[in-house]
Amino acid sequence: MATADEVCVQVLLPLALPVAYSYLAPAAMDLVPGHYVRVPLGPRQMAGVVWSIEEAGEEPEISRDRLKYVAERFETPPMPEIQRRFVDWVAGYTLSAPGSILRMCLRSTEALSPPKPQMGYRTGGPEPARLTPQRQRVLEAASDNILLRPAELAEMAGVTMSVVRGLIDTKTLVGEVLPPLKSFDKPDPRAHQVQLSAEQAKAATVLRANVAARKYSVTLLDGVTGSGKTEVYFEAIAATVERGQQVLLMLPEIALTKGFVKRFEQRFGVRPAEWHSGMTARMRQRVWRGVALGEARVVIGARSALFLPFSDLGLIVVDEEHDTAFKQEDGVIYHARDMAVVRATLGKFPVVLSSATPALETLVNVDNERYQSVQLTRRHAGASYPQMDIIDLKTEGPEPQKWIAPRLVAAMAETLGDGEQVLLFLNRRGYAPLTLCRRCGHRFKCPDCDAWLVEHRFRRQLQCHHCGFNTNRPDECPSCQAQGSLVACGPGVERIAEEAVELFPEARLSILSSDMSSHKSLSDMLVDIAERKVDLIIGTQLAAKGHHFPGLTLVGIIDADIGFGQGDPRGAERTYQILRQVAGRAGREKQPGRAFIQTYAPEHPAIDALIKGDRDAFYDHEREVRKRSGFPPYGRLASIILSGPSQTGVEQFARMLARSAPSGDGARVLGPAPAPIAVIRGRHRYRLLVKTKRDFNVQKYISQWLQPLKIPSNLRLSIDVDPQSFF
Ligand code: ADP
Ligand code: ZN
Repeated sequence: MATADEVCVQVLLPLALPVAYSYLAPAAMDLVPGHYVRVPLGPRQMAGVVWSIEEAGEEPEISRDRLKYVAERFETPPMPEIQRRFVDWVAGYTLSAPGSILRMCLRSTEALSPPKPQMGYRTGGPEPARLTPQRQRVLEAASDNILLRPAELAEMAGVTMSVVRGLIDTKTLVGEVLPPLKSFDKPDPRAHQVQLSAEQAKAATVLRANVAARKYSVTLLDGVTGSGKTEVYFEAIAATVERGQQVLLMLPEIALTKGFVKRFEQRFGVRPAEWHSGMTARMRQRVWRGVALGEARVVIGARSALFLPFSDLGLIVVDEEHDTAFKQEDGVIYHARDMAVVRATLGKFPVVLSSATPALETLVNVDNERYQSVQLTRRHAGASYPQMDIIDLKTEGPEPQKWIAPRLVAAMAETLGDGEQVLLFLNRRGYAPLTLCRRCGHRFKCPDCDAWLVEHRFRRQLQCHHCGFNTNRPDECPSCQAQGSLVACGPGVERIAEEAVELFPEARLSILSSDMSSHKSLSDMLVDIAERKVDLIIGTQLAAKGHHFPGLTLVGIIDADIGFGQGDPRGAERTYQILRQVAGRAGREKQPGRAFIQTYAPEHPAIDALIKGDRDAFYDHEREVRKRSGFPPYGRLASIILSGPSQTGVEQFARMLARSAPSGDGARVLGPAPAPIAVIRGRHRYRLLVKTKRDFNVQKYISQWLQPLKIPSNLRLSIDVDPQSFF
């Protein structure tokens, strides 16, 4: 039994462990659930969170003399109870260990202690006796008269810390204590308000009322691109800030944040806090701590921002809520939009989901009155939705080995001639999706995956888009040794760019694709486009997201049919959403926009609805298809993916797994079948699909099924509840 001056506490560690571990702590440490603590674990020490405290007199589960002591309590406000419940909830829903969710909450252990004074360095001392090229680079990095931390200097110069240390030792770099991390300014809800249209004002009133109600609600902000959804949800943010609560605004793509931060700054007079994967440790530390202390009022972030330690969160806005980027596909597999709604039920505050092409799930929640909906039907300042035109590739396609049809070329010439911008959209990175030998038919395949290698001509490489394998493109066929016999099949964005340059050599061209540039240059590129320093944009789906390019008036969709019929129940919905979003980039200001859709399937309901501008027709059709087949949102799905080094090993276990599935009323197990990409990184993959009725507890079903099974150690089993992708 813990003595009166000691307590026994359960500490959740940020590891994939099934339970919290017990520790002893002196009563004087005054621990309460939620305190961040440092505890020993084997030979290591690590940060964790006190999950519960044993009642006085209660006997710990493990004998007391085997328990170790909590080493330290961090000087940080305890993790709020709501967040702890959220961690447990997400773990239960995604069938993950609570510690794996906690790991997403503890992304900056530096931030757990008040910031310590840090040293920064710049040049100014005597030159060292020996000046190596590495040292030279450090001195260049340090010559800007800005104080930089040794780690930052090492990173900028591309050298190890010891090089920097050497220059500190020789006193070539002079040090000073860095000023403390900048605190967060309070956004001013009235810094710059726009005059809302009647329709916008009505929508804003609903959102403001929801904020004032101080209770859980979900509202779909449903409006065509350019209708002012951002301006409207800014009003909800303003209302929340006025009440002194925090706001989380989630965006699907971090490349979007730069332009967005500017826009936020114009409206609220200060920069919001940002949270995404491209941040330095010091930036993470500042934001994490700022959020925990309640100083950071508004956070703009990617899905991981959902796990920040908000002290008083009062609103979540999910922009482009239909976007698949909100689904995390590795590690803990979760959907950030859906988990945002869960967070709001726990915290009893409103959520705003914003989109021009909502997810069918969301629309059905509106049908069922689980969610409210407010609509914006008109583009701001009378801009109209682009005029849409079909190019039927069966009858008016381009010549062989060309991808831009003559009618689209003519429209491009016109638009560029008028000094306006053109966007060509193709959702495929690289130059060509397949390379083969004209003589012997050899095809370049990834050695580790069941996938073709994609040619990236820009980098002179063949690449696997699943595992990252890459190799130089050879001159001769590795199979028959023929010279110059290799041909590229099909287009990727780089190939479209090549064709466009031939057609319009004068045009300033930019390729917008996730692999063409780093995050930073990507956001610079977006700014360049918005400022009309580019005439012709060739882009992947990155170009479809919520950018506002005022000079863009023509959009050409090179291949509308990618994405149809790939065994994904949401294939048609995705195609509709992405094409509608891309087309919506055109004509967002005074000049009207046009969009051309190149397709072999003009009669497909998604294409037909696009052309007619009849969104309801498409969603009604899609509702019917899903209802008939029992797919989400009318039924539920969960995938179980097994992978392992030997095909027979995986297959046998998968079959055994399928046979042992409990016969539940309302659940069916489909498969096993080889996954569409049957091998990734040398691991063979099989998948089972659990298909259930809408109100079925799929987590309970899967846990009961898997609990008694022993998974062979060389097999990996991952569970994806509500899968969004089916590769
Ligand atoms: P959405 O988010 O629906 O695509 P935005 O909020 O980005 O639309 O609005 C499109 C453009 O119109 C932006 O440049 C925005 O600043 C402008 N805009 C929208 N509503 C107004 C308004 N009431 N007054 C001034 N500008 C507006
Ligand atoms: Zn591969």
